[in-house]
Amino acid sequence: MSKNKDTLITDDPSQAAKVLKGGGVVLFPTETVYGLGADSRNLKACLEIYKIKNRPADNPLIVHLSHSSEIPKIANMNAFAKELASSCMPGPITFVLSKLDNSVFSTGLPTVAVRVPSHSKANEMLRAFGGPVSAPSANLSGQPSITRFTDAVHEFKGKVDLILKGPEPTIGLESTVIDLSGPRPRILRPGFWSLDDLKDFLPELDEFSSEDLMQEEEKPMSPGTKYRHYAPNANVILAEEETRPKSDAAAIGIGLSDGWQYSVDLKDNAEYMKSLYSFFRDCDTKGISKIYCFPPTEGRGKEALLNRIQKAADSNLP
Ligand code: AMP
Ligand code: MG
Repeated sequence: MSKNKDTLITDDPSQAAKVLKGGGVVLFPTETVYGLGADSRNLKACLEIYKIKNRPADNPLIVHLSHSSEIPKIANMNAFAKELASSCMPGPITFVLSKLDNSVFSTGLPTVAVRVPSHSKANEMLRAFGGPVSAPSANLSGQPSITRFTDAVHEFKGKVDLILKGPEPTIGLESTVIDLSGPRPRILRPGFWSLDDLKDFLPELDEFSSEDLMQEEEKPMSPGTKYRHYAPNANVILAEEETRPKSDAAAIGIGLSDGWQYSVDLKDNAEYMKSLYSFFRDCDTKGISKIYCFPPTEGRGKEALLNRIQKAADSNLP
């Protein structure tokens, strides 16, 4: 897609809301990654997002709302959703629920994914707009999501109508997606909140086995999970703990040794999540061809990091 749009860059959320009302596409920060949003009730504007991202037509968008009290207007807020919303919303989690409002953009599924971001600017924009905003991550399809303002401007200036400036994402990986539309809740994509965390909030999850809850690989219930994802140009390898430094490869991990062509050494999983995608992008800029990602430590973030690293590794070009 050529870069011929006049892109307004501003930190004013009311300007962003105005552009959304006019059928434009807005790039905005959230606490997870940057998003590309359009009015959910404007088909043309939503389809423009697919053009900008080169996104496969069957990969649905997440509907962003300013408050969980808005969810019942578009989806069936069942008991699971009510319980989880009280502990996790606003925040980095997306619920898949039965859809009630057919005027909201959909790829034909009977369900809709909803999220209430906690990011101050995103939330102010949603409040000023006063309706649902459909948004996937702001990145070209297949590439790593964007977690830095500079990358957002570099990639999308000239392609979107407005870029909203605000605090950088603090989490760095996309939201946890949990399907609450059926009798069994299912994690479709791990994120900041892992299955174990969610069991603390939703004790009913304990009734189901982990296999029931994590069916992503066998049955791609979330259409987006089957595509090339999160991948830089370089070949990504999930390193073994004992992998030695290589002068012709980059590495990222916690407590790395020296001797890599380029490396990013982190103190914990939270820093790892926040840095992974910007590291991938920096490796591409540097023309690096091989990346070793060392395993995260036990605890929060491990599941999501391994999921994204594995997906990037599975996407290696032949
Ligand atoms: P992104 O915001 O780019 O991370 O993409 C949105 C993610 O949410 C993709 O993995 C989609 O497949 C998933 N998603 C959106 N709507 C639904 C839905 N109705 N059912 C299942 N997954 C969904
Ligand atoms: Mg995405």
